[in-house]
Amino acid sequence: MEKLRLVIVTPYGQVLSEEVDEVTAPGSEGEFGVLPGHMPFFTTLKIGILTYKKEGQINYVFINSGYAEVTHDKVIITADSAERAEDIDLERAIKAKERAEERLKKMEEIDVARATAALERATMRIQLAQKRIPR
Ligand code: ATP
Repeated sequence: MEKLRLVIVTPYGQVLSEEVDEVTAPGSEGEFGVLPGHMPFFTTLKIGILTYKKEGQINYVFINSGYAEVTHDKVIITADSAERAEDIDLERAIKAKERAEERLKKMEEIDVARATAALERATMRIQLAQKRIPR
């Protein structure tokens, strides 16, 4: 059976490089799916969950925005940060969420967009760490 090479890189290093059967990713315009032989395209990604199927198993990866480049046999993801579900530190995400919520509550001179994005990252990591995948 034909396979896809899925590569996920971030400024912190390579998160994974595997031969997989299927990928779904959080495109800015909505989730998209890729099978081997897909038409080449390029898109931006939003904060969300990437899934890939390998040996009959579905695997989950948190994606913090970035780009996806799809060719007939590859999916290359370049993300601001990314973690496999099993690598997420739940305590850290809960603390990050609390911090972001505190900042948003205070009516000080804060960067609302930045705090909102931090809150979104933390919330998504918590959902993924608890295996509650948003649909
Ligand atoms: P924090 O405020 O906890 O640093 P953040 O959302 O600002 O969270 P990022 O800038 O997205 O963090 O990521 C910085 C680095 O830390 C990346 O390597 C990312 O994979 C890692 N990272 C961030 N949060 C977690 C987490 N909860 N579990 C595991 N790795 C994490």
